[in-house]
Amino acid sequence: MPNNAAAGLSKGRILIIDDNRTNTAMVKDVLLANGFEALSACNGPDGIGAAAEFNPAVILLDLIMPGMDGIAVCRKIRGLNLPLRPSIIVVSVKNGKDAMVEALQSGADDFIVKPIHEGELLSRINAQLRIAEFYKGIEEDKKNLEKILSITNAISSTLDPSEVLGIIVKEVAEATNAVRCSIVLIVKDDEGYVLASHDDPGVKDLRLDLSKYPEIREAVATKKVLTIDDMAAHPLTEKIKEQVKGLKGMSVLIMPIVFNDDVLGTIILRTRRGGRRFSDKEKTFCNVVANASFHAIKNARLFEKVTREKEHLREMAIKDQLTSLYNHNFFYTRLEEEFERAVRYELPLGLIMMDIDDFKKINDTYGHRAGDGVLKDISALIKKSGRKTDIVARYGGEEFAVILPHTTLKGSFDEAERLRHLIESHTYAGLLKTRITMSLGVAAYPNGVMNSGELVNRADNALYKAKWNGKNRVCMDTEEEDDIA
Ligand code: GH3
Ligand code: MG
Ligand code: MG
Repeated sequence: MPNNAAAGLSKGRILIIDDNRTNTAMVKDVLLANGFEALSACNGPDGIGAAAEFNPAVILLDLIMPGMDGIAVCRKIRGLNLPLRPSIIVVSVKNGKDAMVEALQSGADDFIVKPIHEGELLSRINAQLRIAEFYKGIEEDKKNLEKILSITNAISSTLDPSEVLGIIVKEVAEATNAVRCSIVLIVKDDEGYVLASHDDPGVKDLRLDLSKYPEIREAVATKKVLTIDDMAAHPLTEKIKEQVKGLKGMSVLIMPIVFNDDVLGTIILRTRRGGRRFSDKEKTFCNVVANASFHAIKNARLFEKVTREKEHLREMAIKDQLTSLYNHNFFYTRLEEEFERAVRYELPLGLIMMDIDDFKKINDTYGHRAGDGVLKDISALIKKSGRKTDIVARYGGEEFAVILPHTTLKGSFDEAERLRHLIESHTYAGLLKTRITMSLGVAAYPNGVMNSGELVNRADNALYKAKWNGKNRVCMDTEEEDDIA
């Protein structure tokens, strides 16, 4: 019978089939002393029964036994087709080559001649275990390849993305013995959606508050696979201790699905494996699956919707609502970028600051709504008149700014003059014959400008000068005026 004391930490389960009880007892002692789990049977039929019931890793099989001999037992065991193929080492007093050949031909893997030498016995058992481990690895690779094949087949032949995701979570769960496998779409730092979960095929677009899932956030932030051996005892889950109380002994693997350096989602595996860590093979497998599944995620309906919303939010953050021009904040971000580029490539960079003249009067005379209409018209005029590479922003209430990459002070001045004329000659809806004019200030890099802040100040000063000198005109910062002359 198995020796259960050593079961948990056993190096392997060894079955001894031998009619000589003294010999059996001696071998058993050696095995137990060396960390193996040992069981024994004293005749062939009992041995076959024990092999089927306990699935040992190695069988030490005596050749000469009353009734059924070792060769017959060996053939019988090989015919059982056990889930884990045991290694059979025949042990015999017969030391002739014929006996050895017969044993190996009947399905044995190795042969030891009695009396047993302890060192030889252990080395031969260990050699068999190494070979078994090697085969187990190959077996696992084969199983994983089959799963990957089935997933890629599903991806190329199934049109419905949610069906594809369902197949992915099912196959991954089977390959890793997971109690749950799910795919989560990452929308924001604290928002995700379960797109598929293998234990609940009905789940769809279930919203997750990611602040309650620090392990997912961690994997998303690092863009690397994260494994936790015990959810209830990991520092990451310290803050959500109460929530993970029930997850004692639960292991988790989170594989980010990365595309273009962006984390689209994660594959999440939960298993109960009694302290056994996720193997490198399992991690590699999940990584291949993650790479294969990003298309399915991108095709998921929710992904499209979320991407549109994200894009909209991004637009809202950088654009002014009334005019659809870039806002003040984004103007500074872009100016900084363009300034750095200008310095790096030694290119000129122009900036025009412009302000509507006496705009208050327009509001007072025609109302605020008409004023809004003017702001929209002027925005459209500036946008339409410039080059594609120019960056137009609403700098303030009735102030605008235009960044002109690759443009000298002279070029910027000409552009400003063109804009001034365009605005002055435009007919504004509902404003009768009222003329609208603007004052503009121009500055450009290099002309001694040290940084983007100074460029803004100089253009602003020039604008102030235009106002001071009577409005409806373009001015340049005085220092620069000397340069251009
Ligand atoms: P100046 O020629 O010196 O620039 O005179 P101004 O009247 O244009 O300048 P001021 O700064 O005195 O007034 C700006 C006006 O612009 C006041 C404000 O109500 C108006 N304004 C700012 N934002 C908006 C807006 O979004 N819509 C409308 N209709 N008016 C706006
Ligand atoms: Mg004004
Ligand atoms: Mg103003």
